Amino acid sequence: MKKDFEEGEIKITIDYDKCTGAGECVTSCPVDIFELAEGKAIAKDIGECIECCACVAACPKEAIEHSSC
Ligand code: SF4
Ligand code: SF4
Repeated sequence: MKKDFEEGEIKITIDYDKCTGAGECVTSCPVDIFELAEGKAIAKDIGECIECCACVAACPKEAIEHSSC
């Protein structure tokens, strides 16, 4: 199951069939877009995203798609 998180031009999609909830995305994002909820990553305040793509690079399961990366 995939879930989209969108704000403005930016869309982040997380694939919950792949996400292990280990949180590399949480620690990699310089503006704290990600947090864990019930053992899975969620994205919030997408408007603060600086489109650096660190989250996509950090995810060992390739569970994150980002419209800018
Ligand atoms: S880095 Fe990937 S697998 Fe790990 S919590 Fe984030 S989205 Fe899930
Ligand atoms: S692209 Fe960069 S700023 Fe945006 S959510 Fe990913 S790590 Fe955070």
